[in-house]
Amino acid sequence: MDQNTKKRVGIFSLTCDEGCSIFLTEIFNKKLLPWLEKMELVYFLSIKDKAEIKDLDVALVEGVVTSERDKEDIENIRANAKILIAMGTCAMTALPSGQRNNFNISQLKEIEGHLEKYNFLPKALALKDAVKVDDEIIGCPIDKNKFIEIFEKYL
Ligand code: SF4
Repeated sequence: MDQNTKKRVGIFSLTCDEGCSIFLTEIFNKKLLPWLEKMELVYFLSIKDKAEIKDLDVALVEGVVTSERDKEDIENIRANAKILIAMGTCAMTALPSGQRNNFNISQLKEIEGHLEKYNFLPKALALKDAVKVDDEIIGCPIDKNKFIEIFEKYL
């Protein structure tokens, strides 16, 4: 397969502990070489320098949309990707990284200044509450077999 027909793949982290992408590097230890025959890894800050987000066939996104910055980022990724996959339960449900959604009134009062200072949204959002999502990979961190099954559908 020549470079022009390979799928352009980007992997992105919004607000979270980045546990899914760390786990993904373990999956890559076994699978990256065969996958690289079909794909070009365009964006993945865990192992590559920052690159332009453009003309992606597949975007895998972990984490929650918790700030205006996250919202801009996910909208930009969505606008530049044919398929967007939510990776892990944070991206699917906003939890656990968006646990402030379950805070009571006094806990929310305590973090009020912080939320304002960093331009946080009123609630942390799952990806599907901010943009259209095409597929989801369950797990915290992602389930290895589910990742392989779903990712290979789009290669
Ligand atoms: S789903 Fe779990 S492992 Fe993945 S980013 Fe969220 S907290 Fe981390």
